[in-house]
Amino acid sequence: MKFLNFSGMVASIAVGTGVALGFGIKGLILLGIFFVSSSLLSKFKQKKKAYLKEIHAKGSERDWTQVVANGGAAAGVGFLAFFYPDQVWVPVIAVLISSVNADTWASEIGTMVGKAPISVRNFKKVEAGTSGAVTVEGTLAAAAGSLAVTVAAGVLFVLAPTHLLIIFFLGFTGCFIDTWLGAFVQGSFKCRVCSLNTERAIHCSQPTRLISGRKWINNDMVNFLSSVIPAAIAHFIFLNVL
Ligand SMILES: [Zn+2]
Repeated sequence: MKFLNFSGMVASIAVGTGVALGFGIKGLILLGIFFVSSSLLSKFKQKKKAYLKEIHAKGSERDWTQVVANGGAAAGVGFLAFFYPDQVWVPVIAVLISSVNADTWASEIGTMVGKAPISVRNFKKVEAGTSGAVTVEGTLAAAAGSLAVTVAAGVLFVLAPTHLLIIFFLGFTGCFIDTWLGAFVQGSFKCRVCSLNTERAIHCSQPTRLISGRKWINNDMVNFLSSVIPAAIAHFIFLNVL
């Protein structure tokens, strides 16, 4: 169904291998929930999103950088769990996957059904799909995305209710980190020719102009950080507090 290009496929196999080493079939099921649901969501509303390709640096087909941004940390935790077995890795991987799932559901569903999102930078309405902007629908979708993975993790790994509550909450938090980084840190550009606000470095065959954020921080990096930060918090809480 062309969810991935070739480099994306190779990266996915690497991510799957890492997760399978550390967490076996249960880890793969958890990863599969994210991968299948986000792929279907992004295909489902592709027509409506056609114009988003102009704003976003990439289309819906994933390449290796997007796979690594969303799954690289999960693979890393898989390898850690394999070489240094410890109960703490289970909630860490659950938070990683629940937060990437929350982020993806939020952006896919938010751009599909949400009204004009509000930028958290200036509280003005911006075009659907703009980084660093929120809608009520997208926020609810993020909660649902985190919940879906949390419930699956609870069933697969038999986790205590309090642990599940923390996993759900941290996974949900990832989408706020994503929005905040997207608004204030991610590079945002303007086309010198058609004046479109875009995440692309080149538009209308011309280099675009940086209007905010850091030039070298793109959406992939923001996605990566917004799952790694809650996962690191989970690691601290499950190791030191619980
Ligand atoms: Zn342009």
